[in-house]
Amino acid sequence: MGEVVKYLVSHQGKLLSDRFSEPLFGVRPFDDVECEAQYPLAEGVSLLVLETEPPELLALDLRSKLAEVDETEFGLLARAAQIAVWHDRHRYCGHCGTAVEADAVELAKVCHACGLSVYPRISPCIIVLVVDGERCLLAHNPRFPPGRFSTLAGFIEAGESAEAAVAREIREEVGVEVCNIRYVTSQAWPFPHSLMLGFLADYAGGELTPDGVEITEAGWFTRDNLPDLPPRFAISRLLIERFIEGRY
Ligand SMILES: [Zn+2]
Repeated sequence: MGEVVKYLVSHQGKLLSDRFSEPLFGVRPFDDVECEAQYPLAEGVSLLVLETEPPELLALDLRSKLAEVDETEFGLLARAAQIAVWHDRHRYCGHCGTAVEADAVELAKVCHACGLSVYPRISPCIIVLVVDGERCLLAHNPRFPPGRFSTLAGFIEAGESAEAAVAREIREEVGVEVCNIRYVTSQAWPFPHSLMLGFLADYAGGELTPDGVEITEAGWFTRDNLPDLPPRFAISRLLIERFIEGRY
């Protein structure tokens, strides 16, 4: 009796699904398709990277899928999506240019010419809700749907602490200062390989001045005049829900 093995499949960095938008396959469905690689995701679940895309499969709408799954499945899909992108985009050694191969033991690719190992890329980002008593600061990014407002976010730069990134991003994007920066929680965000570190911070001064690029509109909102918010599965919404519930 072998263990039950399920598969997620990817091709060219994208997860695939069946015609019902289900990404998890109970048995390996394509005996005639060559695999570039196979990576363990969890107990009894593997990612198969296909060389060619079987015509009966579709690209998975990852955002929609993540919105409807539980925390365990969210983690599985986020891990699969990030490894799929990493496999697709890291094919040669960044030091000597030789083609890299999957390591036999670790989740890594190794260069047999110079010995360099590369691991799946994770890009740390901060995401922060600024609060000021009974109001919170929400902002509109031009990539959002019209009328949608959310928390502020940005990548942590080389050599920077997460707290310093929080203060810098807020200053750059909306021109205000904060204090009492406190960590809340984190979430893998596989678009394509972010790790969102969620914070709350208190307003400490300055005029709201959107930078006009990342942020085109920003404002202070109370619980009873909130705008259109991000979907419930996103960490931004979780931070806003804490404000709504008075846990901040
Ligand atoms: Zn090398």
